[in-house]
Amino acid sequence: MQLKSIQDADIKGKKVIARFDFNVPLSKTEPRTITDTSRIDEAIPTIRLLLEKGASKIVMISHLGRPDGKVDMKYTLEPVAEYLAQKLGADVILSESAIDNGVKNLLQLPETKLVLLENIRFLPGEEKNDMELAEKISSYGDIYVNDAFGAAHRKHASTYGINSFFKNRAYAGLLMKKEIDSLGALLEKPAKPFVAVIGGAKVSDKIKTIEKMLVLVDTLLIGGAMAYPFLKAKGVTVGKSLCSDEDVALAKQLLQADRGGKIQLPKDHVTSLEFGGAPISCPGNNIPADQMGLDIGPLTIKAYSDHLKTAKTVFWNGPMGLFENKDFAKGTMSIADTISETTCFSVVGGGDSVAAVQQSGKADKFSHVSTGGGASLEYIERGELPGVQALKYGV
Ligand code: AMP
Repeated sequence: MQLKSIQDADIKGKKVIARFDFNVPLSKTEPRTITDTSRIDEAIPTIRLLLEKGASKIVMISHLGRPDGKVDMKYTLEPVAEYLAQKLGADVILSESAIDNGVKNLLQLPETKLVLLENIRFLPGEEKNDMELAEKISSYGDIYVNDAFGAAHRKHASTYGINSFFKNRAYAGLLMKKEIDSLGALLEKPAKPFVAVIGGAKVSDKIKTIEKMLVLVDTLLIGGAMAYPFLKAKGVTVGKSLCSDEDVALAKQLLQADRGGKIQLPKDHVTSLEFGGAPISCPGNNIPADQMGLDIGPLTIKAYSDHLKTAKTVFWNGPMGLFENKDFAKGTMSIADTISETTCFSVVGGGDSVAAVQQSGKADKFSHVSTGGGASLEYIERGELPGVQALKYGV
């Protein structure tokens, strides 16, 4: 079943209750300012379309950080309300609480158009999918819109339970639709060759994604600290690199399961004597006992780039090294450059890989850069998410 989009919905004169993912990073020091506005920027087209289509009110819901069901003003949505107002050129009223009795009165006022409910995770019912809370917030709107792809893997009151009060009146926002269409295209008949690049810190974090990718792709390029357990499992020495016994055992299983020889591993490395220390070129496969691998080397960059240049579909998740340090960022940046120069259908799946692609300055050259870290990987693993299921079929 297709997701119902706001593009096809009758919105004229309707009060819309809309869930967004405004969980943006904030500066550590006061006054707390937003350090990356991308998640809000990505939601703006949905808000604009709702207004263009004649919504009488838009009541926006979001979480920010992990206040664990208690009011903690460190996580107030105030900076988000200010940024939204500035971006939309309109007043945005921030309610004191998502269950503030004043919200209903506010919605009676003709001049009130945009209301942002204070952080929904200030309330203990949100993460418990409490139906009383879901019912309360559902009473603010005639229709429900979910544009919070980044929270769609959660069964929470405002992403899941709330759907039960909007039978046939629940719609996907533009971002949600774009995310599901792009990630869905990887799962359903992707153009071949399909090459995936998986990096990052731990095999155990992404084991399910790797298993799924082994079924879908023609070639699986492994980089980052993720590569060392695979190398060790093959008898290569990894020195002091990040490499747990648990991950070596998982890597062994994956190598055994890889009957088609799809998995490719680094041939050389950039190492250091200590974490983030001076870079050392390690031209061979084996890493000396006193060193740790912190990036892929030039031979690996060349081999991986050659695979990527032949691809018609690319999925990338996880950096190729300690990319936050410029001495160990070359592998990650080179992969970003190579993918950005191809014409293939390319998807970057959430988390640190998005930060890496943004750091490379090439984000606009990718077909899709997912806004959801956990959500995009879960969607790839299972082909569904609770928040999306609920939108399609109700609760
Ligand atoms: P993940 O969230 O699993 O994608 O992991 C991303 C993190 O892995 C980033 O902070 C990278 O700096 C880190 N990382 C990648 N490669 C290495 C490596 N070789 N050694 C240590 N950390 C790494």
